[in-house]
Amino acid sequence: GVPILLHYFFYRAAASPPSSNFLLLGPSGAGKTAFTTLLEAKSSLASKTTHNTHTSQVSTLITVTLPASVPTASNRYRSVNDPSLKEASRNPIKYRLRDTPGHGKLRASQGIAELQTMASSNDSKNKLRGVIFMVDTAALVDEAVLRDTATYLHDVLLILQKRSLGKGRSSTKRATEIPVLIAANKQDLFTALPPGSVREKLEAEIDRVRKSKTKGLMDASMDTADVDVGEDEVLGDDDGQGVFSFKLMEDVGIKVDVTGGAVKGESQEEVGSGVRRWEEWVGMCL
Ligand code: GDP
Repeated sequence: GVPILLHYFFYRAAASPPSSNFLLLGPSGAGKTAFTTLLEAKSSLASKTTHNTHTSQVSTLITVTLPASVPTASNRYRSVNDPSLKEASRNPIKYRLRDTPGHGKLRASQGIAELQTMASSNDSKNKLRGVIFMVDTAALVDEAVLRDTATYLHDVLLILQKRSLGKGRSSTKRATEIPVLIAANKQDLFTALPPGSVREKLEAEIDRVRKSKTKGLMDASMDTADVDVGEDEVLGDDDGQGVFSFKLMEDVGIKVDVTGGAVKGESQEEVGSGVRRWEEWVGMCL
């Protein structure tokens, strides 16, 4: 009767939070479409739903099943013999992932716009749990790619910073944290930079982007052709005085992780552990 229904309702609610949205961003060619397709294929194996093919030109929303063996923040210490793990495979945890095109021209209209909408949403159904920013770690040695990637990431972090600091919001309540995972993809490639170098390179380049924007603020005549994210603020908590690091973002309430992986590649299980560590990051946001 009613108690069973209630139990079912609460159990479902706990097992599959409906409000777990993630946004997948990053420059074109990083592997976002490949990642989305892989997750969807893995999920359809689990739930036998059909999966579509994607192009990189439109934003897509997919429902993904978190593998039962991946712990979540609320269930961090479950062991293999834990009955809740068996329950999890019967009643899997799902989340939604929105993939966005990374091409320069579409970035302003789609990726950044999507982030702004999702990050400012008060609707619990559209609540953003985290941002996955994917990068091609084999391409970052190219100066132009590095600059493009860092500029995009800078803009993403600035939007999250503004949200976190609650500028221009009537509410006095501080916004809940939206963490960022920098998914250092293509670790299977011989030419890939390891995650530690990716971190350093991006920090140094974001520092350069930040410095040139600060300079631009002082030079009123400067014409910035970049995406307008409101050029009135500096990324980081130090007014652009020091050297930028992702640690600075923690002071404004945004946790940034750089984690290696590989969507493709034969030896992904050993080298980049595939996408497992990214799934673990997602689990820790749930
Ligand atoms: P998107 O523009 O971010 O959606 O990137 P795509 O998903 O279209 O991927 C761009 C290219 O990188 C494709 O040729 C993919 O097959 C390739 N790719 C994606 N992930 C990996 C990976 O982990 N390793 C390797 N070697 N190639 C990858």
